[in-house]
Amino acid sequence: MVEVLSWKRCVLLAALVCLLLIAVQARAEPKSFDWDAITAEATDLLSNYIKIDTTNPPGNELPAAKMLKEKFLTDGIPAAVFEPAPGRGIVAARLRGIGKHRKTLILLSHMDVAPADPREWKVPPLSGEVKNGEIWGRGALHGKGPGVIDLMAMLAIKRARILLDRDVLFIATGDEELGGKYGAQWLTTHQANLYRDAGYVLGEGGGLRTIQGHLFYSVAVTEKSPLWLRLTATGSAGYAAVPPAQTPVTRLVTALQKLIEYQPPLKILPLVQDYYHSLAALENQPRLLDLRQALADADFAKQFVAAPENNAMVRDTIAPTILNAGYQTNVIPATAAAEIDCRLLPGENADAFIKAIREQISDDKIAIDTLLSVPTMISPDHSELMSAILALSRRKDKDAPVVASMLPDFNDSHYFRQRGLVTYGFVPIQLTGQQQAAERDANERIAVKTLRNGIERMVELLRIMGGQ
Ligand SMILES: [Zn+2]
Repeated sequence: MVEVLSWKRCVLLAALVCLLLIAVQARAEPKSFDWDAITAEATDLLSNYIKIDTTNPPGNELPAAKMLKEKFLTDGIPAAVFEPAPGRGIVAARLRGIGKHRKTLILLSHMDVAPADPREWKVPPLSGEVKNGEIWGRGALHGKGPGVIDLMAMLAIKRARILLDRDVLFIATGDEELGGKYGAQWLTTHQANLYRDAGYVLGEGGGLRTIQGHLFYSVAVTEKSPLWLRLTATGSAGYAAVPPAQTPVTRLVTALQKLIEYQPPLKILPLVQDYYHSLAALENQPRLLDLRQALADADFAKQFVAAPENNAMVRDTIAPTILNAGYQTNVIPATAAAEIDCRLLPGENADAFIKAIREQISDDKIAIDTLLSVPTMISPDHSELMSAILALSRRKDKDAPVVASMLPDFNDSHYFRQRGLVTYGFVPIQLTGQQQAAERDANERIAVKTLRNGIERMVELLRIMGGQ
C-alpha cells in the first residue's frame, strides 16, 4: 500500500515537473516560426506590392502606403499613413517592446521605384510575376523587397509572442529615388515626434556580399555626398555660316573637356583604408592591406583607379549627364548648358570643390549654379547595432567578417544621420555582383529563397537587438 502511494506520488511529481518544463520552454520560446507559411505570405505580399505602380516620377505611393498599413493593422500593430503631398505617401508602424529606456530601432525602406522600360524586360516590369522560384518586377531587390523583409520580420515576432526589450519602428518612405523631398526629408522635418525615441536606423545599401567566394557583411556607414551643378555658357546668337572663334557651344564643350581631364586629388579616408584592408585579407591581396602605402606607387595607383568602383572610393568624381543647346542646325544659340553630377567624399567642402571647378574651367562667361548639395556624415562603426550585426553573422553565417563601407550613391540615410541617429545600410540578403548591378536594370527579381533567408536573418537581428 505504501509502495503504491509513493509510486503514484512519483508519477504526479514527474507530471508536475513536465508541466513546469513545458511552461518554462513556452516562455523562452513562445511559439515556433512557420517559415514556409511566412515565406508564402511574403511572396504574395511582394508580388502585390510590385503591382502597385509607384514609379517615380510621379511616385503616387499612397495606395501602397495604405496596403502596408492594413497589413500591420490586421496583426494588431499600430500603423499610420502620412500624405506629404496629394497622392504621395509614407507609412509607419510601431511594434511595441517592453524596454522603457532602450532606444527604438527604425527599419527604413522606400516604396517608390525607378522607371522601367517594358521593352527591355522579359515580363511586364510591374507584373509581380512569380515563376521558377523568383518574384519578378521593379522594386523586387531595391525598395519593395527589403520593405517586405522588414514588415514580415515584425509580423513574425509579433505572432510568435516574442517580447523585445525595445520598440521597432517600420518606416517606408516615398520619393527616395528623386531625393526624398516628399519622403524622408518631409518626415524628418515635420514628424520628428514619430521617431524622437529612436537611436538606430537600418536601411538599404549594404548586405551579404561575396568576394572570390568568401562571404562578408557589408555595412554602409556613410555615402558620397551628391553635388549637382549646371554650367551655362552665354554669348550672342548668330548664323552658323560665318562662325566666330568662340560661341556658347564651343565654350561649353571646352569647359567640359577640361573637367573630363581633371582628376581631383586622391584622398584615402580611414574608413576606406580599413575597408580595403578587410577585403585584402579575404581576397589574399597583401598589397591592399595598406592602401595608402600601395597608392604611393604611381604605377599601382594608375591601375587601381582604372576600375571605376575603386576610383569612386578614393576621390571626388565628376560626370556630365545632361547637355542642352540649340534648336536649328544653321543657328548659333545664345546659350548652351550642361548638368554635371559630382560626388564628394564625406567631409569635403562643396564651396571649395566648386571653386576648384571654376579654376579648371577658367572661363568667366560660364555660370555655375548648384542644383543639389547634400552634405554627408559618417555613422560610428562601433555601436549596439553593429554589435548586433556581428552577433547575427556569428549565429547565422559562420562568423562572416563584418566590414564597414561607404556607398558611392546616396539614399534616405543622410536625413537620419543628420539628426544624430546611428544609421547603417544593411539588407540581410545575399546578392551576387550581377544582381546588385541589376537593381535598377531590366529583369529585376528576387529568389523566394533569398526573401525567406532575409526574413529569417531580420527576425534574428531583431531578437538580438531586443535582448534575446
Ligand atoms: Zn533606394
